[in-house]
Amino acid sequence: MVVIGLTGGIGSGKSTVARQFGSLGVHWVDADDVAREVVEPGMPALATIADHFGEGILTEGGALNRAGLRQIVFEQPEQRAWLEGLLHPVIRDELVRQLHPDNYALPYVLLVSPLLLETDQHQLAERAIVVDVPVEVQLSRTMARDTNSREQVERIISAQMPREQRLAKADVVIDNNQPSNRVLAEVRALHEAFMVDFG
Ligand code: ADP
Repeated sequence: MVVIGLTGGIGSGKSTVARQFGSLGVHWVDADDVAREVVEPGMPALATIADHFGEGILTEGGALNRAGLRQIVFEQPEQRAWLEGLLHPVIRDELVRQLHPDNYALPYVLLVSPLLLETDQHQLAERAIVVDVPVEVQLSRTMARDTNSREQVERIISAQMPREQRLAKADVVIDNNQPSNRVLAEVRALHEAFMVDFG
């Protein structure tokens, strides 16, 4: 099974483009979803986190207190390292599992991740597609979607890989600063090419 990575900054249109591939029958896995799933109640990683930090890291309902955990790892780099050491392999294993669905007829799947190029996730992927828009478009679309302030979104963007660096690492760039039907046409063409290359 060939894995194609799909990445881009916040609000670039990763999810939108992933759904377009999905409409063509392509299976895709969202790394953010998987990162949340592995610490849901009942998952072994959540029990390990509760053992390490104490039950106070759980909400009354037994879910992970994400804000509390963020605060701890923000203040204590060694705890961040511990947490990453725990979660990265767990997330990676679950990604690999979900990237190999049963009874799937196409020769490739998509791994959708904002951190594809920043982490070792790119090692899972044969090629990297970057969904690209100018920073101003990223800002306005994210503000419209999330009702965050301009400052909040700017802070997130500046914590992510700079646009030029991301583009330099791309095997394929999808220009998402155009109407959806034009983007879908690009997606269809790419899909046809992948079907030939990997079929
Ligand atoms: P990401 O997953 O990269 O954070 P999304 O796919 O959620 O980005 O897109 C961000 C916002 O921009 C969403 O509200 C989406 O509907 C909108 N959007 C995506 N692509 C386009 C486009 N080509 N034209 C207009 N709006 C778009």
